[in-house]
Amino acid sequence: MTIGVAILGSTGSIGCSALRVLARQRERFRVAALTAHSNAELLERQTADWRPGYVGLVDSGQGTGGRGNGRECLVEAALRPDVQIVVNAIVGAAGLEATLAALRAGKRVALANKETLVMAGELVTRAAREGGGEIVPIDSEHSAVLQCLSGRRPAELARLILTASGGPFRTWTPERVAQATVTEALRHPTWRMGKKITVDSATLANKALEVIEAHFLFNVGYDAVEVVVHPQSVVHAFVELVDGSVLAQMGFPNMELPILYALTHPERVPDAGTRRFDPVAAGPLTFEPIRPELYPAYGLGRGAAAAGGTAPTAFTAANEVAVRLFLEGKIRFGRIAETVARVLDAWRPTDADGLAAILAADGEARRLAREAACS
Ligand code: NAD
Ligand code: MG
Repeated sequence: MTIGVAILGSTGSIGCSALRVLARQRERFRVAALTAHSNAELLERQTADWRPGYVGLVDSGQGTGGRGNGRECLVEAALRPDVQIVVNAIVGAAGLEATLAALRAGKRVALANKETLVMAGELVTRAAREGGGEIVPIDSEHSAVLQCLSGRRPAELARLILTASGGPFRTWTPERVAQATVTEALRHPTWRMGKKITVDSATLANKALEVIEAHFLFNVGYDAVEVVVHPQSVVHAFVELVDGSVLAQMGFPNMELPILYALTHPERVPDAGTRRFDPVAAGPLTFEPIRPELYPAYGLGRGAAAAGGTAPTAFTAANEVAVRLFLEGKIRFGRIAETVARVLDAWRPTDADGLAAILAADGEARRLAREAACS
């Protein structure tokens, strides 16, 4: 019997990587559902290749071959009885309801969509506890932590150190970074990814999102989650255990391995897809502290994490709005962090334990961000 997999966001960078993994693992998994936002052409080709029982296009415009349409298709796909694992490869807040629904239905969510864990960490982890579902990270750093923690008791964990490439502006001056163009921001040194996360890697907002993601996934305090800049992206994370021993997970940057592991965890299966590791070819591995003046968004995210409640919700919502405005050419690069700062300055965090409160906070932060960005 094969395991049914739904891929939400199958036309994106992670979605396409997931399909490449599944193409090599056909004896274990089958594609049961696919959804995309608006790339009908690619979705149609994927449908022809995989013949899933369910296909959904969120923004269908006119005339599509999709069977499910509108936002509801995400939850519909996740709840199909022939789906055991939901790969959530959607970017941004839009992935929240499908993750909650899948977890409440007791399914495994292989989660790339970190924004929703930041937006609603308490809600998502509670949905998993109450529904018997399981969140397994796809994010490479968190996959690395999970792999290092496999077989350990929670009390044995002392500290996590996530690595960050530092993005394309690591060696720039803050003044030059503030004026960076979209093309420059999209030139990531080590990973090929969707545009939003590539910009987040240049501001390091991505690493703040990942610190919050780690807090909710592994139930660790923020004091025990550190970040180090590691330009080669070969060590994905370090895990320090209470006896002082430090484990690391490594490999050449490639999302297919964390995707495969999220599907098979805690088991390992043979896979010929990724380039074999070669320590000599990996070259010297270097580590540096974060230069805070270069990455104000990182500090803002950590501040929101410490404030708790709906502050992380506001952080990720404001960041999403600002990144979109930057990608549309409406604000300069430096304005992304300035926008987030203004929203957080005005923010009075409230409890983040219900969906209505989360959605209201998300909407309010987006409104404030649009106002702050353009004033
Ligand atoms: P992408 O832009 O390439 O793909 C995004 C996908 O989301 C697309 O398939 C799109 O159809 C779908 N989508 C967008 N808006 C939607 C909406 N409103 N409703 C429904 N579907 C929608 O992005 P990506 O690089 O694949 O990243 C996806 C997620 O994975 C992000 O949360 C990102 O942070 C995370 N992630 C990506 C990588 C990577 O290497 N690309 C690594 C770690 C984590
Ligand atoms: Mg990551």
